[in-house]
Amino acid sequence: MTDLTEAAERRQHILRAAVRQGLLDPERSALAGFVDLEGVAETVDALHRAFPGSLCVLHAFAAKANSLVPVLAELRRHGMGCEVATGGELDRALAAGFPPDRIVFDSPAKTRAELERALGLGVTINVDNFQELSRIDEILAGRPPRSRVGVRVNSQVGGGTIAAMSTATQTSKFGVPLADPGSREWLLRAFEDHPWLTWVHTHAGSQGCPLDLMAQGVAQAVEFAEEVNRHLGRRQVVGIDIGGGLPVNFASDEVSPSYDTYVDHLREHAPALFSGGYEIITEFGRSILAKNGFTAAYVEYTKSVGGRPIAITHAGVQVATRTVFHPDAWPLRITAHDPRGGAKHDRPVRQDIAGPACFAGDLLARDRALPLLEPGDIVVLPDTGAYYFSTPFHYNSLPEPAVYAVRGRGDGQIRFELVRPAQDPYEPPTPDGRTAPASPRDGLVRP
Ligand SMILES: *Cc1c(COP(=O)(O)O)cnc(C)c1O
Repeated sequence: MTDLTEAAERRQHILRAAVRQGLLDPERSALAGFVDLEGVAETVDALHRAFPGSLCVLHAFAAKANSLVPVLAELRRHGMGCEVATGGELDRALAAGFPPDRIVFDSPAKTRAELERALGLGVTINVDNFQELSRIDEILAGRPPRSRVGVRVNSQVGGGTIAAMSTATQTSKFGVPLADPGSREWLLRAFEDHPWLTWVHTHAGSQGCPLDLMAQGVAQAVEFAEEVNRHLGRRQVVGIDIGGGLPVNFASDEVSPSYDTYVDHLREHAPALFSGGYEIITEFGRSILAKNGFTAAYVEYTKSVGGRPIAITHAGVQVATRTVFHPDAWPLRITAHDPRGGAKHDRPVRQDIAGPACFAGDLLARDRALPLLEPGDIVVLPDTGAYYFSTPFHYNSLPEPAVYAVRGRGDGQIRFELVRPAQDPYEPPTPDGRTAPASPRDGLVRP
């Protein structure tokens, strides 16, 4: 076992325990997700330590990265806040027990009802555009808000390697552009006319953005805040929300870049952020959960087609949606395990690892060198704690798999808590249009 990293050994311990305890079973539960809460605690601790203790910082976890309520509640217990991008995520954050003033609402499409609710609760709001600001004016009707309210600016510093993840391009759909003609003047007037606009928000992108680009985006937001305060002759802007977006290393178990490294870049590009003159909100998602979760699935069958070995597993597009549809941008590692969860050490053979869905492109990896997989083996997809099993895709009526939180260290002391039960594959609609678990009396189903 000496060739396993500490993280790989940890996954193997968890996997073996899950098989022993029957949480993974080739017949009854051939697919499951796992969130390592010990790892989550260490990651959140590293985030808290990266920023100087003298500053007032709220680290708001981006709920879209893993919106399972027990996971959110665990992050709350570790002192985090929560960033939400829809009314549904706001519901989940409240269910996880976050106090409204530690929730940040960032949708670009907030409805009037959502704004009324957020303002009523005192949830922090980042305004995306001019029309949204007018809507807030109408709702407030001259009263000052209980909520902290900021404006999301697009620094237009440029994109990263994944276009769909880049939000600081010239034409991104998010925020008010800083560099467009007339835009800055409009923004300055908006801050002048709204003394309760006290925050500036930016988020340069998610995965694939170089740290210098992200830090430049933050620097533009800080410079803009300084400009507002100079223009108004008072310190109206009191806080900068720097967004999330720290990329994750999907190639190995190394945690890189670290929060410390990002803070070094921020210090270099945006020293005023550390002057003590501003409160800070961060909105990291992927970097908190990705490496603290993995997916495990049994191999059902294997075959050889056109000379290429193929393993058909129970993990595919329903849990690794981005990887299957966009394999070059979102490659995942795969490790091969025997039916009891031990790492397989046979000579690597190039093979395709397929999912169960009914389309030819449902492949987790093509031509990947791994010990030859056999029926009954288990494949593990490391680094899937964010945006993977927590964000299932319902193609082919493939059910959402069970997700377990993992506590305890060492082979014998691992404990599991169910954080999401496996979905019933068929939930017939009830007459009122809601879905309910199938029951023998609903007349629609089941012999
Ligand atoms: C998605 C998103 C985040 C989180 O990004 P990560 O890459 O998961 O850290 C933070 N803020 C906003 C506004 C987002 O859209």
